[in-house]
Amino acid sequence: MNNKAWTLASYPAGWVSEENFKLVESPVPPPKEGEVLVKNLWLSLDPYMRGRMSQQKSYVKGVEIGEVMTGQTVGEVLESKDAAFKPGDKVLTGLGWQLYGCAKGAELNKVPEGRAPLSYYLGCLGMPGMTAYFGLKEIGAPKAGETVVVSAASGAVGSVVGQLAKIAGCRAVGIAGGAQKCDYVVKDLGFDACVDYKAGNLYRDLREACPKGVDVYFENVGGEILDTMLRLMNPFSRIVVCGLISDYNATEPYRVAMFRSILVNRIKVQGMIVFDWKDRYGEALKALGGYLAAGRLKYRESVLEGIERAPGGLVSLLKGGNFGKQLVKLA
Ligand code: NDP
Repeated sequence: MNNKAWTLASYPAGWVSEENFKLVESPVPPPKEGEVLVKNLWLSLDPYMRGRMSQQKSYVKGVEIGEVMTGQTVGEVLESKDAAFKPGDKVLTGLGWQLYGCAKGAELNKVPEGRAPLSYYLGCLGMPGMTAYFGLKEIGAPKAGETVVVSAASGAVGSVVGQLAKIAGCRAVGIAGGAQKCDYVVKDLGFDACVDYKAGNLYRDLREACPKGVDVYFENVGGEILDTMLRLMNPFSRIVVCGLISDYNATEPYRVAMFRSILVNRIKVQGMIVFDWKDRYGEALKALGGYLAAGRLKYRESVLEGIERAPGGLVSLLKGGNFGKQLVKLA
């Protein structure tokens, strides 16, 4: 059996391109004692991957040149030298952009079969779902009747945030790029409104969509959208700083102009990294799984077929080419 793996060939300056990656083929190694050999079925593509293609200091170390690109997968156990796993088990892994890989049993989590499609454990029942759940609940802390706005609203995290806001009894308003995504956010996901930030009237449209101002802003994009939101925040409102995707490929960081609003409105602004809640993932999984089973949580995927398409998929994701959780189907 031969493995195919995408390694990092160079660090991008500005936008990521497919030339930053190199496809390497090699024989699949047998598992060592305590290891498990996994065949990856699904690879998740996520915006954070851009941050790992850099030597800049961050909350996790970046990928080295020549290393396999980092990423979560759902796979099937082929061979196990760890008594806790057997061939056929489905597992969540950190094996990255490759078809096969060996991992220590302690680095894998079993994924239940039959409750939801396996790919969902990379999306609404996985890291993006956990991010939405804890970011909104613990930092946004919305109360019934309040207005919650989320950017990148049609995506993996944003779509869950808005639906959880509705479940909490709030007015949910999305921000997304283009009429098609905005239509989906309102008609399919059940948000109260969604503003197209590409239409050119962001402040006016948001003001109309949030007649009582904004109590919670779940930030996924940063840049001018953040500045516009700062003009709409209510006194004692909260901003959950989850992601700043508009800045990930920028060579100069965006400079926030409306910082003063944080003082004047006594806004609580807090960054979040999903791993900080890893001890409570079970709680989120139970809640999100329950909403999904009850039809209260809708979810959409953008699927590319074949490992060869992973680099193009990441380039496209960072430009909004995805419509829903971006995945690569590997087998
Ligand atoms: P999405 O599925 O939402 O995909 C990314 C979306 O970002 C695109 O579809 C696009 O939507 C939007 N986007 C891209 N560029 C811009 C731009 N310049 N301005 C506005 N919107 C843009 O991805 P995820 O749900 O996986 O991630 C959303 C955010 O959450 C990211 O910032 C990510 O880094 C962050 N995140 C943070 C975590 C944490 O622990 N802090 C964990 C997981 C995710 P559109 O077409 O609408 O523009």
